[in-house]
Amino acid sequence: MMRTPRPLESLTGKELTRKRSIAGVSTRTLLYLTGTLAARGFEWLLPVVLSKSTDPLWPDPGASIEKRVETDIYGETVRTTQSMIIHKLVACSTAYPKLFVLSPNVRIEKRERRATGWHSYEFTQLDFEVRDASSGSVRTLVESAVSGLVRDLQKSARAELESLGRLRGVKVPETPFRAYDRETLVDRYGEGWEHELPGAIRNPVWVTNIPREFYDFEDPATGKWDNYDLFVPERGEILSGARREWEYSRMASKMARDGVRKENYALILRLAREGRLRPSAGGGIGVERLVSWVVGSRHVGEVQPFPKVPGVVYEL
Ligand code: ASP
Ligand code: MG
Repeated sequence: MMRTPRPLESLTGKELTRKRSIAGVSTRTLLYLTGTLAARGFEWLLPVVLSKSTDPLWPDPGASIEKRVETDIYGETVRTTQSMIIHKLVACSTAYPKLFVLSPNVRIEKRERRATGWHSYEFTQLDFEVRDASSGSVRTLVESAVSGLVRDLQKSARAELESLGRLRGVKVPETPFRAYDRETLVDRYGEGWEHELPGAIRNPVWVTNIPREFYDFEDPATGKWDNYDLFVPERGEILSGARREWEYSRMASKMARDGVRKENYALILRLAREGRLRPSAGGGIGVERLVSWVVGSRHVGEVQPFPKVPGVVYEL
């Protein structure tokens, strides 16, 4: 039985030392990834928490949302950020052709997900988007960032990895990563492929063609989705992304098909109708998941200074 991560004030001296070593790895991870993106000409935007429009997280076979947090301010309904995908599409189409943001995501997961060790109801996503990019170019960028990160950490966070017993735990991933169409994995493992895959791989792999939210590009000719998730060995998914829809008729008809309320997406639909949305591709890395994989923590909440484990409400 996995132990639920406990808050700082109840940890032993040894546990606090471990927590601090994980923070050292996390610091170097953030420095490396933000530095890599900035060096490639990305603008670093600051996040927002309250908006009328946020990621619907629907339909997504992986989503398990118990509650969507909505509140009224100044007489209007706003929602806490589930992801900044809508903001990314607007920002990327207008002022910032290459952008990233470290964004707090609030996803009130069903409480059963406490036991997965892979879910928190608040986490930070390193979310990025590139105008006119192809899926392939985004995947190549991610591959070089993830491999480069592990190589960097073996030097920059050597002492921390050693004290966590992980210096040889994570190998520098070989690039390019293999890519599997989801349908191939369903044939091989059945509908539970997501749970089987992490134990069957030694190197990170891509999974493509995953039916989900309206903003991922779905090819009308083939019915295939031009999107991708990155899975790491032993653990699971650490990144979701896609090439995007940008045409009004496609977005509107997908919303109607999925039962997503158009009035919650008025701005992005208006920009699309006016031809002001631009094609793009991007993705978002779950920062705590990435660090959890590197340090080998049993629960992703262990990587968080203030854990947010599904079903548990902490004072901080
Ligand atoms: N960040 C994701 C994306 O870029 C959206 C998500 O959070 O699932 O597609
Ligand atoms: Mg998603």
